[in-house]
Amino acid sequence: MKTIGLIGGMSWESSAEYYRLINQRMKERQGGHNNARSLMVTVNFHEIEALQHDGQWDRLGAMMQDAARQLERGGADFIVLCTNTMHKVSPQIEAAVSIPFLHIADPTAAAIKKRGFRTIGLLGTRFTMEQDFYKGRLEEKHGLSVITPDEAGRALVHGVIYDELCHGKVLDASRQAYLAIIDELKHRGAEAVILGCTEIALLIKPEHASLPVFDTTGIHADAAVALACT
Ligand code: GLU
Repeated sequence: MKTIGLIGGMSWESSAEYYRLINQRMKERQGGHNNARSLMVTVNFHEIEALQHDGQWDRLGAMMQDAARQLERGGADFIVLCTNTMHKVSPQIEAAVSIPFLHIADPTAAAIKKRGFRTIGLLGTRFTMEQDFYKGRLEEKHGLSVITPDEAGRALVHGVIYDELCHGKVLDASRQAYLAIIDELKHRGAEAVILGCTEIALLIKPEHASLPVFDTTGIHADAAVALACT
């Protein structure tokens, strides 16, 4: 079994989910007392969040490179970055280490295409919904058509992530607001929706939504376990 190298802390609310899921799924897969072999480097989200909103992506890239190098030195066989947003600096991470990097958008796109969907709604931080590093990869590399909420919807989705979910607050009013946004994406042609922020699955479960949901945390954790078993 390979050792999974996790870059966590963005936020730790979702890193805890990654940790739970990779161990649970390894046990389901291998039985007995098997759990995943893993290392996690946890960064301080207070610093990360401030740098993101200040646009300091070069510094953020350098911080992610340090974390990836620590994991490689510690014996990790590949890197899992436990956030969608920070995949903005995935090229820098890949350049810093010689072990593979498991990009969160790739197994997500594969899961969507396996179900036969082509037009997909995307919820995440503003960075993820508005910039090309994520949407562009889904469209150009994977041939999906991506729909995002309107300006007011994007502001709401972003605010709930940073002000509530990353503080461990899961509020019913925010769930209802997200579900209204998912309904709107459906009316605009989305066949399914990507929960493209690793905390959203804390708020939205498949049974809540009017569209099938693709939870990037669960999909990424599954892909990490599958890779660790090769
Ligand atoms: N965990 C979130 C994501 O998947 C947001 C936190 C962050 O900015 O990294 O995008």
